[in-house]
Amino acid sequence: MTYLTRAQAMKDKLITIRRDLHSHPELGFQEVRTAHRITDTLHDLGIEYETGIAKTGVVAYLGEGEPRIALRADMDALPILEANNVEYKSENTGVMHACGHDAHVTCLLGATMMLNEDFKQGKLKGSIKLLFQPAEEIGGGDITSGGELMVQAGALNDVQAVVGMHVISTLPSGEFFVREGAFMAAVDTFEGEIIGVGGHGAYPHEAIDPIWLAAQVINAIHGIVSRRVDPTKQGVISVCIINAGTATNIIPGSAFLSGTIRSFDESVRAQLHADLDKAFSIARTLGGDYKCKIIRGYPATVNDANMTEFVRGMATGLIGEEHVHEAELQMGAEDFSYMARAKPGAFFYLGAKKDEKHRPHHNAVFDIDENVLPTGAALMAEAARKYLADRAK
Ligand SMILES: [Zn+2]
Ligand SMILES: [Zn+2]
Repeated sequence: MTYLTRAQAMKDKLITIRRDLHSHPELGFQEVRTAHRITDTLHDLGIEYETGIAKTGVVAYLGEGEPRIALRADMDALPILEANNVEYKSENTGVMHACGHDAHVTCLLGATMMLNEDFKQGKLKGSIKLLFQPAEEIGGGDITSGGELMVQAGALNDVQAVVGMHVISTLPSGEFFVREGAFMAAVDTFEGEIIGVGGHGAYPHEAIDPIWLAAQVINAIHGIVSRRVDPTKQGVISVCIINAGTATNIIPGSAFLSGTIRSFDESVRAQLHADLDKAFSIARTLGGDYKCKIIRGYPATVNDANMTEFVRGMATGLIGEEHVHEAELQMGAEDFSYMARAKPGAFFYLGAKKDEKHRPHHNAVFDIDENVLPTGAALMAEAARKYLADRAK
């Protein structure tokens, strides 16, 4: 029996777990109940585990020795007031599983149940490391995300590869998407201040108008991607906040600009940072001054070539070639990126569109088609099984 058939038979159980997690969402590094739900299941299965990894994470092993592959699921929810009127609606007002991480935990628990059975029956050799990771949604600047913390804690040191999955509410349900190399973007933020000299709106020559300076700076910023970055490579800088001024006859003393910087290639990322600073320096050329702070976020998620081919083949065998697709580049970010930097990794998408309503991620009406839960569990289990089997040959 394939994992798909076995997982289909547990569908009701998986839905129950997912709904329980969905109605009790917890923010990053606060996933205490979620961790308990995970360890209760592991305990019932007779699996030893370790808690407190990366603060609220849970780690466990199935089997022993090498080869060893890690399977990762993130656990956290978002500060959003759920607008869905469903029986499993969030009971933690203002917090919502609006990215589907409840489904990721569910699928990994489902995979664990099946793999554990197979280990008990002596069908698998080697081991699997389960990584239940907290705080995917918070990170960057002074905050170290759950994925980065797990890597820092050495959770990836004793594995040879790592696989992660994301359900996507806007992609067709049950379809598998993956992409070799850069898949999701590096995300950095900038906060800039343009410093002029304030004065009377009627006497601009006696002031140094920071709004005029900001206009030049913004123009220069918008020229960076089109004129400075190699046209065959991708990147984007968007100025998303601009603040200055208090009255129609006062030239303010300063103006604030901030926004987002996204890229896939580390050299492009470095160039965007350097050229952004140069764009701000125009303020100095024209008699003002500036400060520009860049807050580094997650690096790009880069799928290892061999691991990508491996998961693509694995999915083709499990759900059929017609359901396996090439993913498009994503400007969004993921802290699985840290794990995929530590060890050869593959991150894939599982389409989970529920109905005709637009239910994007990080939105109050986000929801998924629960019919994909068995597919997700089977994909995770099969990735681990096949990895071990291929290497045991
Ligand atoms: Zn998210
Ligand atoms: Zn997510």
